[in-house]
Amino acid sequence: MSAPKVHFAPVRSPKKISMVARAGQLLERAGLRDAVAEGDLVAVKLHFGEQGNTGFVHPVFLREVVARVKSHGGKPFLTDANTLYRGQRANAVDHLACAVHNGFSFATVDAPIVIADGIDGRDAVDVPIEGGRHFQTVRIGAAAVHADAMVVVTHVKGHEATGFGGALKNVGMGLGCRSAKQRMHSDFRPEVTTEKCTACARCVKWCPVAAIVINPDRVAEVDFSVCYGCGECVASCPYGAIATQWKTTPEAIQEKIVEHVAGAVAGKEGKVVYLSFVTAVSPDCDCWSFSDAPIVGDIGVLASTDPVAIDQAAYDLVTAAAGLPGSLGEGMAAGSDKFTVITGVDGTSAMAYAEVMGLGTRAYELVRME
Ligand code: SF4
Ligand code: SF4
Repeated sequence: MSAPKVHFAPVRSPKKISMVARAGQLLERAGLRDAVAEGDLVAVKLHFGEQGNTGFVHPVFLREVVARVKSHGGKPFLTDANTLYRGQRANAVDHLACAVHNGFSFATVDAPIVIADGIDGRDAVDVPIEGGRHFQTVRIGAAAVHADAMVVVTHVKGHEATGFGGALKNVGMGLGCRSAKQRMHSDFRPEVTTEKCTACARCVKWCPVAAIVINPDRVAEVDFSVCYGCGECVASCPYGAIATQWKTTPEAIQEKIVEHVAGAVAGKEGKVVYLSFVTAVSPDCDCWSFSDAPIVGDIGVLASTDPVAIDQAAYDLVTAAAGLPGSLGEGMAAGSDKFTVITGVDGTSAMAYAEVMGLGTRAYELVRME
């Protein structure tokens, strides 16, 4: 069997065709027409960026994706699921406000925004998966599950916990609902900071299994014989009095992310196309409220129907580039594994495990577009 194609448009265009137009052409070459049928609801998965972050993919590219999907009869909507951490995207109201703040709205992209796991992160579907080391079912944002097709738009960067942030992480961690994100991040035990707790009981009402009570000392107390580690209480506390315990390994996180990818794309065989931007490659996640200097110069855009191949291609392109002076990549020669050196985490284990899970292959054919 031949290796899957990863279509590549480098940043420089000798023919002087805009990157927006070429990103659209890449989608077509990767097979968008085959993925989208007349009347399909098409989830366009992206990261809207945290407020203050500038690394996310610019709305003009999403407008092009939307136009291409519509040209094939699809009904696109932009989507992402709420975050576990207490930032600007932990519920749909804040999330939508953050999206508009960063330039995403119907007026700019010509499509609605639907937060995949609903107003408070609980609108999710338990999707069965096979062959996973960690889960038999994964909880995926309902809007993504119910969509007929998906276009995954990814900003490639490093990540402090997983080493590398590509298409697999965008889908797996991104589309997991908030409790799924907690399951991926740790074997969780919420810890209440006594001094911060005001006994407001918000977490008591929020906990889905009534594992929290206000004790006689007027402090929230967790019954660990009942708590199942969903992490919902962390985001529910307005005073930051409940902390997250991180007790897992980077390899386990990556495997869990991959198992959520399996759930997110289940039932969409041949209906998912990936578009990855290897530009503004910051050393860490777009969930931060700032963007550090890119570790390599802008490289280009990739498109494929294989999430493993496209991540491997992006990783290889960054490895092949020289580190940029003034960034965390400074002094790193072409050929050095920058993500691993900078983050201390081997970010390729997600790709290796995704290959084992049958989600794609690390072998690929890079097809260059000028
Ligand atoms: S982690 Fe989930 S189950 Fe445990 S106390 Fe918090 S909200 Fe309840
Ligand atoms: S929501 Fe926070 S402050 Fe309120 S009772 Fe729970 S832990 Fe305490």
